[in-house]
Amino acid sequence: MKKTLYLKFCLAYLIFGIFGFIIIAVFVSNLTLEHLRREKSESLYREATLIANTYASDLYNNAISLDTVKRQLDSLDTYLSARIWIINPSGRMILDSSKPIDIQNEIIIENFDPTIAVGTYYTIGDFFHTFDEEMLSVFAPITNDYELKGYVVIHSSMQELQISKENLLKISYITFLILFLLSGIILLFFTEVVYKPLRKITTATEQYASGNMHYELQVESDDEMGYLAAILSYMAGEIAKSEDNQKKLVANVSHDFRSPLTSIKGFLEAMQDGTIPTELYPKYIGIVLNETERLIKLTNSLLTLNNLNTKGMILEKSEFDINQVIRNTVTAFEPSCINKKIAVELILTDDVMIVEADMGKIQQVLYNLVDNAIKFSPSNSIIKIETYEKHNKIFVSVKDNGIGIPKENLKQIWSRFYKTDLSRGKDKKGTGLGLSIAKEIIQSHNENINVISTEGVGSEFIFSLPIVEDEDDII
Ligand code: ADP
Repeated sequence: MKKTLYLKFCLAYLIFGIFGFIIIAVFVSNLTLEHLRREKSESLYREATLIANTYASDLYNNAISLDTVKRQLDSLDTYLSARIWIINPSGRMILDSSKPIDIQNEIIIENFDPTIAVGTYYTIGDFFHTFDEEMLSVFAPITNDYELKGYVVIHSSMQELQISKENLLKISYITFLILFLLSGIILLFFTEVVYKPLRKITTATEQYASGNMHYELQVESDDEMGYLAAILSYMAGEIAKSEDNQKKLVANVSHDFRSPLTSIKGFLEAMQDGTIPTELYPKYIGIVLNETERLIKLTNSLLTLNNLNTKGMILEKSEFDINQVIRNTVTAFEPSCINKKIAVELILTDDVMIVEADMGKIQQVLYNLVDNAIKFSPSNSIIKIETYEKHNKIFVSVKDNGIGIPKENLKQIWSRFYKTDLSRGKDKKGTGLGLSIAKEIIQSHNENINVISTEGVGSEFIFSLPIVEDEDDII
């Protein structure tokens, strides 16, 4: 299996780290330097203006001596860790805080041009080739009687700013590193909560796809992953179950088809080779016909079951009189009842009882129940069909005094192809499908069908249907 999702997440984590580092190294570094430069130049400008308005203008007014100014500027120089100059507009150095006063050796700054800092009040560079390193130089004009006398220039080394910037950046790097490591927790979390369960699910789906529906998928979390895994394993279980059912169905169908076919073939061969004499033909043709009838019944039941699906059964509901349907069904069985000398007693609530259901399918349920009742009843017995009303439902009961169903088989009779051992001798034509068809039909109406039976005494099958309220009654 390709580990792409995990790799993608790791890659995203790495990209986050690299981008974070680049952003700090480039943008944060520039922004910090810019901020420090602005702050430094503003504070130096304030100092320069102060000097220009006090000591420097006093100096030009001759109110203070050059030595006194020098002393004052020396202490400021140390405090600011900067060099303070007083220069004439022409570029002649009047005072340099870092050098003793030397009137003999005048220093002239070549090409001095104060307009270099117009608009910004500071400049960065070697200040007209007077420094070897890059300096931040701030200008403040000295004026006296509205006349420009000179400038106070304060120089601060750019290297110092760089060092401050590096120190600040270190904090950013450490913060980012901590964040990066902390976000690694997300990666671990993702691995545990998403990736590992997802791998288990993928392995399971591969197993299911290859046909191993019994593969056990275990994801013990109650989030969406756990839910997905639970649904998948439920789905696989259902497929496995339906596969098993399918196999059972095919085995049962093949078995039920094979026995009548074998007997038909046996009789026909015996007729063909003369084992059965011609005068006995009518008897054996009757048997063969019986067997073909059984095959037709089996095929019909299978087709009906195939069309029934509790979840997706399409019901053609209508309002009809259930009493009339019961009467019609009983009439259809009249010949069999006469044959077996069985009496059918009808105890019906009201003349007309309107229910809402799929009439054709309910007819089929009644047919299957009455058919069983007749099959499993002894001659000269009574079958009672009764209806009674309860909680706005009509309950239809088909009761016989037949062989009954052993207690231990009561649950199984609703399964496809199930026949009790007791009934096998009595009913050779039975398919074991009648009751499962009846149950599916009743359940698809959201109603119930039940059985009460005692072995050797008889059975009673009861199902319910919703009654349609008679409008006259409501009024
Ligand atoms: P079958 O076609 O064999 O009657 P059903 O699904 O209708 O199939 O019934 C399943 C089994 O339940 C029967 O084979 C029989 O053993 C038992 N059964 C059903 N109805 C009755 C009944 N009225 N009395 C006794 N046993 C019954």
